[in-house]
Amino acid sequence: MHRRQLLKAGLAWPFAVAGGAFAKEPIFIGDMHFHLLFLGRNPAALNPLGKNMAGGKATLVAWSLVGDLPWMAITPRGFKQKSVPKAGETVTWFQRELARIKTHIAEQNLKIVRTTADVDLALKGDPHVVLSVEGASFLDDDLSQLQAAYDADIRHIQLVHYIRNAIGDFQTEKPQHSGLSDQGKKVVQECNRLGILVDLAHSTADAVTQALGVSKVAMVWSHSSVTRTRQPQWTMPTAQARQLSLESAKAIAAKGGVVGLWALRSDVGQTPEAYADRLSEMADWLGEDHAAFGTDMNGLLGPVLNSYADLRRVVDYWEQRRMSESRIRKLAIENYGRVLKQAMAARQA
Ligand SMILES: [Zn+2]
Repeated sequence: MHRRQLLKAGLAWPFAVAGGAFAKEPIFIGDMHFHLLFLGRNPAALNPLGKNMAGGKATLVAWSLVGDLPWMAITPRGFKQKSVPKAGETVTWFQRELARIKTHIAEQNLKIVRTTADVDLALKGDPHVVLSVEGASFLDDDLSQLQAAYDADIRHIQLVHYIRNAIGDFQTEKPQHSGLSDQGKKVVQECNRLGILVDLAHSTADAVTQALGVSKVAMVWSHSSVTRTRQPQWTMPTAQARQLSLESAKAIAAKGGVVGLWALRSDVGQTPEAYADRLSEMADWLGEDHAAFGTDMNGLLGPVLNSYADLRRVVDYWEQRRMSESRIRKLAIENYGRVLKQAMAARQA
């Protein structure tokens, strides 16, 4: 007998209790920000993605290519720019790294999100990867690279990261553009036109405000956390500089967007359950349609979640605490699915 038949026969209850889960249909997991080739010597071999996703029923994972990795260094003050890319180097890096990512996805027999129908499949439990890039340095000042990225299946682009680019200011260095540059505004518009989701993570508050003024569709802030008490500044320690003020988070939410919570242990706590409480609190502040997972797995020095099995504990805990099933589904996967589909559907080809 299959599980669904068991449910119909009223026999599933003991199994549900044994699994610690209460929802009648499985709750799948989405993640707005994940890495596999960021930290460590050979993380893809140690933790192959197919097995990792299956271990937590993660079915909509944004794998973020680190667009500026060769020009970054880990310092006592966190990640910093160590050198300036020469003309053409960023796009070469982007293409090489994307090929490496696609090779792993193919080896793992995972599918890539290309259309809104693919997102729907992922929401129903068919595992898909969203190709994403963190820090759009590969553009240099050539907007046509966005079309090339779209043609290469990139559907989610984070404008800035840890090195200076022509797009806009980021949280961990002194601002240079007073927010987004004119080029940065064009990048947002071109992403709208192509149907690529814009990710504001790492942007300064001014850049967030300006992007919200330009974009025709909702955007995400894929990873970090929200602070009610501070106005993050580049002069603060990285973990604080990287936070999002409540005001900026609410502005992103007011436009229909979604804010993701990272799994930085020093920020969110020592256990998956602490992470669960923190994300639920964030959903209270922003509305349950506007918060989501953005683990930053393999990109954090000191993570509390190391696998999708760990993230599954968050969903289990919410179920055990009797959080409403509709709220769990929104936070776990549906909010990300919604904004991704909206951005893709806005495509004007
Ligand atoms: Zn990041």
